[in-house]
Parts: sequence; C-alpha cells; structure tokens
Amino acid sequence: RDDERPGPACYCGRHGCIETWLSGPGLAADHARHTDRAMTGEAIVAAMRAGDEGARATFARWLDRLGRGIAGIVNVLDPDVIVLGGGLSTIPEIYDALPGRVAPHVLGGGFDTPIRPSRHGDASGVRGAAWLWNDADAPAG
Ligand SMILES: [Zn+2]
Repeated sequence: RDDERPGPACYCGRHGCIETWLSGPGLAADHARHTDRAMTGEAIVAAMRAGDEGARATFARWLDRLGRGIAGIVNVLDPDVIVLGGGLSTIPEIYDALPGRVAPHVLGGGFDTPIRPSRHGDASGVRGAAWLWNDADAPAG
C-alpha cells in the first residue's frame, strides 16, 4: 500500500521485502512503529487475545499483509493448498481470518484454497533442511 512505502530496511539491502513485514521480528517492529512499545511477537499475540487495541490493530495489519502476499502466490500458481510455516503459523486465529483477507486480492474474486498450518509447526524449516542434508549424503542410485 502507498502508506507502507518504502517499507522497513531489509538485510538484502532493499526496503519493504515481505520478510520485513511478515516475520516475527517484522510483526514486532511494525507494532513498535505504531505504538512505541517494544514487544515480542508472542507478547503482541497475548495482548491481542487480552483485547489490547494496539495489538489488535497490529495483528490486523499483519493479517492484511499476509493475505495480500498469499493472493499474489494464488494469482500466479493457484496451489491446491497453502501450508504456512514459521513461528507465527502456530497462531490459531490466523486460519479463520485469513481467507477473507486473501479473497479481495485474488484475480476473479473467488478464493477457496485451504490454508493449513504445517504439520510440524515452526520446526518444519529445520526438518526440511535436515531431509535435504540426508539427500545430499545419500549414495547415488
Ligand atoms: Zn530483502
């Protein structure tokens, strides 16, 4: 969105990369920019559940950004299922609210792709890396 430009600085040297918005540290930084309160992602989610308005607004911005990001993937790849990984994917509130945040940005307006948490939660990336390691060491044939 225009009010998000240029976006937070990213480690890659650019600004506004999706990681700077959707990662746990990205969520915490967005919250700090809007509330002047430095909190972890976990603390923001706990405050949201307790009804804190600033935390609720931060979570709503985060969901909107995640929805727009997923819509971009759906518009290009049209996957059969979307599996979310990482620590924030373990927030159950995501899964009811997210489809409504994706749909307005999907070409044609229809969106019924299932969105699921990864089976192994925030350990999925590490598990995948371990499997790649096994493949690299496996004997040919
Ligand atoms: Zn970047």
